[in-house]
Amino acid sequence: MERTVVRCVDGHVFSTTSFPMQKAERLGPGRLLRCPRCARLRSVVPVTLQKQ
Ligand SMILES: [Zn+2]
Repeated sequence: MERTVVRCVDGHVFSTTSFPMQKAERLGPGRLLRCPRCARLRSVVPVTLQKQ
């Protein structure tokens, strides 16, 4: 299963296997996921490991 590294609005970086990439392309980069650090749903964006 592919893992996606994401970052919540508070700057917490974690990986998830449930990031809906296909829907993200339609609705924009931000998605709501449960952040393990915040312990609540947060708006997250995918983190690319490549330098930008
Ligand atoms: Zn967080």
